[in-house]
Amino acid sequence: MNYADIKYPDIQDGDGIRVALYVSGCHFHCKECHNKEAWDFNFGKKFTNDTIEEIMNLLKNHYVNGLSLLGGEPLEIANQEGILPLIKKVKEELPEKDIWCWTGYDFEKDVLNQMYTQNKVTKELLKYIDIIVDGQFEIENKMEDLAFRGSTNQRKIDVQESLKKGKMVTLKFGDEVRYEEQKPKIMYFESFKKSEKDLTKTLESSTIAVNFNPINNTIEENVFEQPRIKIKEEKETMVAKGID
Ligand code: SF4
Repeated sequence: MNYADIKYPDIQDGDGIRVALYVSGCHFHCKECHNKEAWDFNFGKKFTNDTIEEIMNLLKNHYVNGLSLLGGEPLEIANQEGILPLIKKVKEELPEKDIWCWTGYDFEKDVLNQMYTQNKVTKELLKYIDIIVDGQFEIENKMEDLAFRGSTNQRKIDVQESLKKGKMVTLKFGDEVRYEEQKPKIMYFESFKKSEKDLTKTLESSTIAVNFNPINNTIEENVFEQPRIKIKEEKETMVAKGID
């Protein structure tokens, strides 16, 4: 297996401070994927025992919550064999660290009902994974600032509970209320400008905020000149952790 990157410290891919391993190789080729270079299974560096030691040493820091596996596609069969020795070692030597894994496969249809029943490696692999975020990135369901996913179709799954119950058990990311209740989201001009080129000619100041309704992709006409209330990131993190 090859890997594209190791990110440390990483605070975007799972709860708390993390070590994130981006493996190489993905056959899904989602439209507007941000990691296109990692589609190639030969991209990046060889994943070796030294890489495993490097990751283990980073995980040993007491303030690190866990390991995140992204890609590329960690659950491609060739990559499952590559990551198995790493996550087995993590759970044997550092059982307090949690392991999250992102996959384009559908957890119920592809992972539980097929890979898990047909492939010995998958069966062992799932024993060590705490959370899977499943589903391919869908540009039509993309929302800025979602917690730990790019589009609203992606689900957070409690792997060990799902295995115990024999059916998929999902968890809340903590920010679902924003789109489930169809509330307009406040976007600051700079981030808005990146996604909506048309508005750049009418809005000039970076202090201006606009209301953007992500459900029907409409822009509210009113433009506010005073600073707007920022979405409270800390609050969302607390909700995601189930503290609030
Ligand atoms: S599954 Fe992930 S890495 Fe693969 S193409 Fe889709 S977004 Fe990119």
